[in-house]
Amino acid sequence: MLVNVANDVLAELCRGEGKDYISQIIFDDKHSNDDLAVFLAPNLFVANFIKTRYSELFENAFEAKTGKKPSIQIETIKAQKTSSNIAQIIQNKAGKTLLNLSYNFDNFIVGDSNQEAFVLTKMVADEPGKKFNPIFIYGSTGLGKTHLLHSIGNEAIKKGLNVIYVTAEQFLNDFIVNVRNESMPKFKEKYRKCDVLLIDDVQFLASSGIKAQEEFFYTFNELKEKHAQIALTSDKAPKFLKGFEERLVSRFESGVLVTINPPELDTKIRIIKAKCKFDEVVLSDEIIDYIATHMGDNIREIEGAILSINAYSRVTSTEKNITLDFVKIVLKDLIKTEKENIKLEDITNTVSKELNIKVSEIKLPSKNKKIVEARRICIYLAKNYTQNSMPGIASYFSLKDHSAVCHNLKKMNELLNSDNNFKIKVEEIKNKLAKNSE
Ligand code: ADP
Ligand code: MG
Repeated sequence: MLVNVANDVLAELCRGEGKDYISQIIFDDKHSNDDLAVFLAPNLFVANFIKTRYSELFENAFEAKTGKKPSIQIETIKAQKTSSNIAQIIQNKAGKTLLNLSYNFDNFIVGDSNQEAFVLTKMVADEPGKKFNPIFIYGSTGLGKTHLLHSIGNEAIKKGLNVIYVTAEQFLNDFIVNVRNESMPKFKEKYRKCDVLLIDDVQFLASSGIKAQEEFFYTFNELKEKHAQIALTSDKAPKFLKGFEERLVSRFESGVLVTINPPELDTKIRIIKAKCKFDEVVLSDEIIDYIATHMGDNIREIEGAILSINAYSRVTSTEKNITLDFVKIVLKDLIKTEKENIKLEDITNTVSKELNIKVSEIKLPSKNKKIVEARRICIYLAKNYTQNSMPGIASYFSLKDHSAVCHNLKKMNELLNSDNNFKIKVEEIKNKLAKNSE
């Protein structure tokens, strides 16, 4: 069936370049046929981006599976509404830059997890180059780093400043092309002339080699000297970035560092409600709670979930209201662990077995490093995979109050972001936990 082929194609392309965009679209079975594959995107920005950059990739992937190359069409779910809300290519003295207008401070939902990042980026946007230079925002994927970076850019554009937004990958490609074409003066002029330089996912520069990092270093110094604003995002704190020259790391740390943590439940719920309003999807509180408690913390995935529910309900459902059962079916691949089945005892038992520490030891505070780590993993799993409240978790693990739980979650987040081996260990425990509680 075409739908199976299309979903295989999507799954495949979601692992490669452009996955952040491709993961946002879904296949529209109803309007597709052997010669035409239609996909639905959340907005025109994503639709156009995929259309221009990845159409051929899609065609080839279909051809590899069916022997036939269909035309690829990417539509927006609600074309008329997004038209005023799309990315725009902004021509300024610094050259052309792509800013997504729908990433702004007004529609960024603020909670404890991201308040500091929000406040600081806003202060930077109010007075670029004056305070906090550079600002370095780090945290896991899908928590709003790019959104805040674009928000700074959109504000700066309003002030008439020359803004460049690039991903570290684009910066690197630009560098390589200019070296090859012997046009480095052009490159230097472009990046050193701007008032605001926004570089997203700077961790990608790690593997870029000395020359590109050197160029970045000099660009950085020159911009800072003339009080141009630099804002950077990364998946890790600078000190955990591997493959960077020491002097660059110290430049990253020379302004302000701020992290975004995974959203707490109420923030997640507010984000879901805001997305539903924007997407014009009506979901009951019960469904919103279900999504908030069952999906992970990656907001991009949550947006994808809402998008799928919306699109599937338009394409397949004859019912007027979206029901929880319908949502469960649509999201079944996104939600791997059924939280209701997991109890705190399952977590302590699994962690005890995997890390070889007694359950009784895990449940009580300790100074022993291994026990501290085991407790932290348990607390993290309890928060993410059970329905227990923060005070409930605090009392189970003999912690003073819910802020002690928060402290542990923050530490866990830092470790997961900085230590890949630790991350893998936690993933393994998660898998065991899911199996044990089936
Ligand atoms: P990151 O760069 O950290 O991987 P993004 O900034 O790309 O994450 O965010 C992923 C998606 O989630 C974006 O569409 C963004 O608009 C949305 N998002 C993240 N955090 C928030 C928030 N606090 N309020 C509203 N939308 C958010
Ligand atoms: Mg990003």
